[in-house]
Amino acid sequence: MESYDVIVIGAGPSGMTSALYASRANLSVLMIDRGIYGGQMNNTAEIENYPGFKSILGPDLAKNMYEGSINFGAKYGYGTVESIEDNGATKVVHTDNGDYEAKAVIIGTGSQYKKLGAPGEDEYGGRGVSYCAVCDGAFFKNKEVVVVGGGDSAIQEALYLAQLVSKVTIVHRRDQLRAQKVLQDQAFANDKINFVWNTNVTEITGDGAKVTGVKTVNNQTNATGEIPASGVFIYVGNLPITDAFTDLKITDDKGWIKTNDRMETSMPGVFAIGDVRAKELRQVVTAVGDGGIAGQNAFHYIQNM
Ligand code: NAP
Repeated sequence: MESYDVIVIGAGPSGMTSALYASRANLSVLMIDRGIYGGQMNNTAEIENYPGFKSILGPDLAKNMYEGSINFGAKYGYGTVESIEDNGATKVVHTDNGDYEAKAVIIGTGSQYKKLGAPGEDEYGGRGVSYCAVCDGAFFKNKEVVVVGGGDSAIQEALYLAQLVSKVTIVHRRDQLRAQKVLQDQAFANDKINFVWNTNVTEITGDGAKVTGVKTVNNQTNATGEIPASGVFIYVGNLPITDAFTDLKITDDKGWIKTNDRMETSMPGVFAIGDVRAKELRQVVTAVGDGGIAGQNAFHYIQNM
C-alpha cells in the first residue's frame, strides 16, 4: 500500500492550499480527487472577490492553484474515496482505485447543488434544467431562461446568463435576496433581469423533449402563474459531500463536518476544510484560509506523534 504523511481528499481551493502548505513543510502529500482539480471554481465564470485579481476566470484560478499545489512535490491521484479507516497512528483511505495509508488526512470534498424537488426537474435534466450556467448557458443564446433562488449563486449566475440570453427571470421565494449587496445592485441595474418575488416553482413544464417553462404559485396570495422559458437554472443551496465519512461521527445533524479553529475534527489526525466544513462563509478566500491552517496543523500533528 502506498504510504504518505498526508492525504488530502478533494482538490478544490481548500484541498490544493492544504497540499501546498503540507508539502512546503516537507511532508509527503497525496491529493485525491474524483475529477479535475478546481472544484466549484470550474463552474464559475468570473471570480471578483479573490484578492490580488480584479477579476479572474474560475478555471484559470484553479489552474494557478493546482500548479502551486504540486510545486513542492505533492502528488495528484484520481479516485473516489469510499471510507477512512482509523488505525490510530495511521489512517487507511479506501478508494475505488486502491487503498492508501497516511499519518494525517485532510477532507476538502466540498458541497454539491441541492435539487428543487419539483415535478419535471429530473425528467428535463440536461434538456433545459441545469445547475451550471457556465457549463450550459451557451445553449440558451438569445432565449428566455428562469433562475430559481436568491443567494449568491443564483444572482451571480443570472448576471452571467444575462450576457447570453434575451431575458432572465429570477423566481425567489421571499421578497428579499440573500445574495451580497454588490451582486444585488448589479442584478437590479441589469435590464435583462426581472424578478418574481414571494413565489415558488411548483413544476417545470416541457413538451416531452425539452423545457417550455415553469408553473408558479405566489406564497402570499396563492395566485398561480406560468413563465415561458427554454432553460431553468436551479440555485437553491448546497449539500455537503460527506457520504464516505458519515460513520466517523464527525458531522453535524445536517452532514457538514464540525471542526475547531485548527481545522481538527473530533478524530485525531483527521482535518476538514473548505465548503464541507460547518461554517458561516463559503467562499474561495475562506477555503484557502482553511487549507493553509490545516496544512500547517497536519505538520504539527505529525511532528508531535
Ligand atoms: P444559499 O446561499 O444557501 O442560497 C440558496 C437560495 O435558494 C436562497 O435564496 C434560498 O432562499 C433559496 N432556496 C433554498 N431552498 C429553496 C427551495 N426549496 N425553493 C426555493 N428557493 C429555495 O446557496 P448558494 O447561493 O448556492 O451559495 C452557497 C454558498 O456559496 C454561500 O455561502 C454563498 O455565499 C457562496 N457563494 C459565494 C459566491 C460569491 O462570493 N461570489 C458565489 C456563489 C456562492 P432563502 O433566501 O429564502 O433562504
